[in-house]
Amino acid sequence: MSNLEQTLSIIKPDAVERNLDEKIKSIFLTHGFKILKEKKIKLEKSDAEKFYKVHETKPFYNDLCEYLSSGPVVVMVLEKEEAVSSNRKLMGATDPKKAEEGTIRKQFGISIDKNSVHGSDSVDNAKIEIDFFFKN
Ligand code: UDP
Ligand code: MG
Repeated sequence: MSNLEQTLSIIKPDAVERNLDEKIKSIFLTHGFKILKEKKIKLEKSDAEKFYKVHETKPFYNDLCEYLSSGPVVVMVLEKEEAVSSNRKLMGATDPKKAEEGTIRKQFGISIDKNSVHGSDSVDNAKIEIDFFFKN
């Protein structure tokens, strides 16, 4: 059974700042993802607040939104069979210290907040997040 999905990926400011965006994109391609859409943008803090609204009650929300809007990010729509779970697995755990060997966060993440990549956590949220960045 084919289950082609799309998911939203963001290469976060810590990774773009270290010029890791091409390297991280090549990892997605190597793992069979197609990059359907892509743009490099700098978010306003208010954009980050909207994007991460689900976390608004968390103690790290303000710092997270400051951080995501602190420098350019690369936002992509990735497509693959089971893209959402496949990308979450390739990203690794939120805290790079706890991420498995070979995952993007294990290789490149600096800390739980500067963890190099975002990936949608469900098919429904992927649709919402893709619309957030790519709906005209
Ligand atoms: N985050 C943080 N401190 C925490 C938990 C999360 O700074 O204790 C940040 C981190 O950058 C993470 C983002 O908030 O990627 C969103 O958190 P979530 O739990 O959704 O993790 P993710 O889905 O990114 O793995
Ligand atoms: Mg999340």
